[in-house]
Amino acid sequence: MLAFKIYVTFLFALTGAVMGSFLNCWAMRWKEGERYPRGRSRCPKCGHTLTAFELIPLLSWLFQRGRCKSCHEKISVRYPITEALGALLFAAAYLRFGLTLYTAELTLLFAALMLLSFIDYDTMLLPGAPMLVALAAWLAFLPAHGDWKARLVQGLATALIVGAAVLAVSLAMDKLLGKDTMGGGDIKLYALTALYLGPWGTLLAVLLSCLLGLIFAVLSKRKGSPFPFGPAICAAAALTLLFGDPVIEWYLGLL
Ligand SMILES: [Zn+2]
Repeated sequence: MLAFKIYVTFLFALTGAVMGSFLNCWAMRWKEGERYPRGRSRCPKCGHTLTAFELIPLLSWLFQRGRCKSCHEKISVRYPITEALGALLFAAAYLRFGLTLYTAELTLLFAALMLLSFIDYDTMLLPGAPMLVALAAWLAFLPAHGDWKARLVQGLATALIVGAAVLAVSLAMDKLLGKDTMGGGDIKLYALTALYLGPWGTLLAVLLSCLLGLIFAVLSKRKGSPFPFGPAICAAAALTLLFGDPVIEWYLGLL
């Protein structure tokens, strides 16, 4: 049984790493104006088409010591980081929720959140297409939830309330500070993740996103310039979905 669990965890991690790698490449090409990735993977510096051996997640980067085999230019550490992120998210979803439809639903959401984070990090934009994918996944998997009517009503109500609340706060902040504080994409992203999180999860995730946003802003080297908030919203939602239940139960126990 343990051997099986380790094997399936490995498969999820591998799928997640491949997905993280693909989504990172998609985001990098998105930045260049290519909306959908076409053609074989290539070195962004010299254009060398990558061979199968150079496409192994994480390992290729390690074996080549972070350099392109053809031009020996440094390969951004962003590649192994996004691959490791995908591996961790997918493996965690399986370890937390097993071989269930909910795990499948979460991996789809995580893929959309990764793409949104990468694109927002590069361009300060949150495109609608990945959000629509996450919305479609939420709707498609509704019947798989035993309490699907409650999930539908709670999800929609939470999304509306959170969307309106964040909009109100950001408008007030804009007035107060005299500049745009939060983009419309961030508000949509809060509403979208609220569908998955439900009321208590959303409360926890909103608090966590502010904390993470602060940490990311301090760690980032973009001093003074606008900072993308999408990655913090996505990370907070993923962490809450994976590990938030004990925190929420503890909090509700206090009430
Ligand atoms: Zn190269």
